[in-house]
Amino acid sequence: MSADRGPAVVALAGGVGAARFLRGLVRVVPAKDLTLVVNTGDDRTFYGVHVCPDLDIVTYTLAGAIDAKKGYGLAGDSFHIVDTLAAYGHEAWFRLGDRDLATCLHRTLRLQQGARLVDVTDEIRQQQGLDLRILPMSDAPCPTFVQLGDGTQVHFEEYLARDGAPDNVAAVDLTAAEAAEPAAGVLEAIANADVLLVCPSNPIVSIGPILALRGVREAIRASKAAVVGVSPIIGGAPVKGPADRLMRGLGLEVSARGVAGFYRDWIDGFVIDRQDAALAAEIEAMGIRTAVVDTLMKTDAISESLARTTLEVARTIAADA
Ligand code: GDP
Ligand code: CA
Repeated sequence: MSADRGPAVVALAGGVGAARFLRGLVRVVPAKDLTLVVNTGDDRTFYGVHVCPDLDIVTYTLAGAIDAKKGYGLAGDSFHIVDTLAAYGHEAWFRLGDRDLATCLHRTLRLQQGARLVDVTDEIRQQQGLDLRILPMSDAPCPTFVQLGDGTQVHFEEYLARDGAPDNVAAVDLTAAEAAEPAAGVLEAIANADVLLVCPSNPIVSIGPILALRGVREAIRASKAAVVGVSPIIGGAPVKGPADRLMRGLGLEVSARGVAGFYRDWIDGFVIDRQDAALAAEIEAMGIRTAVVDTLMKTDAISESLARTTLEVARTIAADA
């Protein structure tokens, strides 16, 4: 950390759970000290445009532009394009608003011109008036596939948005991420981080793909950063989304302890909910510094307080190192 800067904070992020947490984190960490590394495993082409669900959820949320009720898309957006395409007989199960679609069309056109996803992401960030650094985890396509009990395999967005996240998950295929290089800046950000936060995101399909990229685990291991996560599981269930079905499918216990166990090789600290206080001792016994607070982010004030707790845990870890 240099004289005019606070600790460099890097956060690994998925979509909705991450965005809720980041609303609080941006209140306590100056934008110049903050870098987000965002999952792109959910990315897919819809209606001819390149959609990056997690990047857009995070960017729109931090810009105050998100449709908070839905948790994705832009507030007040219209849906003329998808509705018209549906009338022509196109599959239209992925609801993409008109202005949202324009953002994705911009991304598509820039990628066709040869821009990298990392550059386009930065253009969208600027256009949304944000100051922090937002990095896609990779410039390469890294689609996550879900393998089902009946032997079929579907793209993660097909599993979630089209099929309603059934419970017969057999495996999750991260082969594309495993073969991909992280985007420019990702490994450097991790290497130079003082604090590496793992947002309360889906461990399997949001954090998993970032970890799967070439060199990321090694960079985390080599980094001096205190690595602190927040549990996305409260009282044995996700707040929202299919983390329970995916964790079960992979043979993991659906609990804060299950997530801690999944992360144990590379995290130093973990923040769990008061409802899960009874699990703290076992997580501590894995060698993970554990804090117990309210983690259900109903308000920005709770998100801010949670963000402060993660930084405090990181400080105590760094102080003992
Ligand atoms: P997605 O890509 O939109 O699914 O978003 P993420 O992967 O970032 O987040 C999904 C996870 O966020 C789910 O497992 C939720 O349980 C978790 N989540 C959502 N809201 C909250 C909250 O208020 N507190 C906590 N602790 N977790 C949350
Ligand atoms: Ca996602």
